[in-house]
Amino acid sequence: MDLDKGVTSNYIPVTSPISWDEYFMLQAMLASFRSKDPSTKVGCVFVDENNHQITMGYNGFVAGLDESKLPWGKDRSAPLQHQKYAYVVHAEANAILHAPRSLVGSRCYVSLFPCHECAKLLASSKVDEIIYLSDKHKHTDSTAIARRIFDMAGIKYRPLVLSDDVLGNLSDHLLRLLNSV
Ligand SMILES: [Zn+2]
Repeated sequence: MDLDKGVTSNYIPVTSPISWDEYFMLQAMLASFRSKDPSTKVGCVFVDENNHQITMGYNGFVAGLDESKLPWGKDRSAPLQHQKYAYVVHAEANAILHAPRSLVGSRCYVSLFPCHECAKLLASSKVDEIIYLSDKHKHTDSTAIARRIFDMAGIKYRPLVLSDDVLGNLSDHLLRLLNSV
């Protein structure tokens, strides 16, 4: 029997409704959904060369502290001890802290362009590429320093735009899943 001349009706041409870039950016966005920060929710995932997720993180207070005693406010006129900045660990830092293995050569998908403090950690971890959704702080010194660190370390970085098609496909998919329960 010639297997190549079998029934052809099941051989349906299909394309993936989502690219790896889009998939991992959505993962980063989902991670950000876990953040309790009322003003800036950031999420990230690190991925290896085989598109396997290594670690994820979102911005939150230092692990293990009583969060009810810490401030989420960002009023910089208050003493630092009464600002969130004194206690928050950024998404990238949390992901790096909890990585179960080396991040050398990995890609980092992050919902907001990294600050210079995280850029130090990313470069020291020898991450290969940063893919970001927003760079709303692009005119700050912190972003300029982060870019300088990435350039000096040879780390690539690029923005990713999530198309309406992807969001629509995802929405349709989720609704189909829910309706099949
Ligand atoms: Zn940061």
